[in-house]
Amino acid sequence: MAASWHLAPSLAQLRREINTRWPSRDKTSDGTIGDAAHSARASDHNPNSRGSVNAIDIDEDGIDAWGLVALLITDPRVYYVIYEGRIWQRKHGFVPRPYAGINAHRKHVHVSIIQSVAAEQNTTPWSVAKIGASSSVKPSTGGSTNKPSATNTKPKPNNQSEEDELMALSKETLKQITDATLGVNVTANGKSAPLVQHMAEAFVADKAQSAKLAELDGKIAALAQQVAKIAKKVGA
Ligand SMILES: [Zn+2]
Repeated sequence: MAASWHLAPSLAQLRREINTRWPSRDKTSDGTIGDAAHSARASDHNPNSRGSVNAIDIDEDGIDAWGLVALLITDPRVYYVIYEGRIWQRKHGFVPRPYAGINAHRKHVHVSIIQSVAAEQNTTPWSVAKIGASSSVKPSTGGSTNKPSATNTKPKPNNQSEEDELMALSKETLKQITDATLGVNVTANGKSAPLVQHMAEAFVADKAQSAKLAELDGKIAALAQQVAKIAKKVGA
């Protein structure tokens, strides 16, 4: 790890705007520079050759995380975003895909910017203040909009409504970015098909992935119970 490092100025600007937009947000799952585990592998949380850390994690509590994702994937500085087991990558036109990395980022939004001096130094406002002004952002069902605090957890939508919401968001964002190109054939996974079709397939793959993950979660929980029982017997 470099002896000295700094958060990319563009991301520092983003964080300032997020803090202004949601002043009492929970920062528990925030992060900038990587820990020991990160530094052992390639991660944008590690400083690059310029000492710049080009990724941040923003805790999902007390903010409109989906609104933030929708905003981020329209910004020219962003390289990819990870949230709730999905990744939106510039190289894939920011169509959401299942994310199978070590950390599925279920508690925070991960933002990586492009590894360039231009992306690091560009401190143009991100327009975070605009989030929430659009009707695409889900209404709070808990009766309390923006009442963030460390102890107040936001209402958790069930999986289905979350999926629907994601589709609505990504469709809308795609519409904004590539309205004219949705029907254009693109090649992905070795197949030429309209962009919308690839998107629909990615969504189906995402659901299959979620089912697999849930199954694995169940197995891990069962194993953990067995281990706990054994530990009890042994008196550990
Ligand atoms: Zn991260």
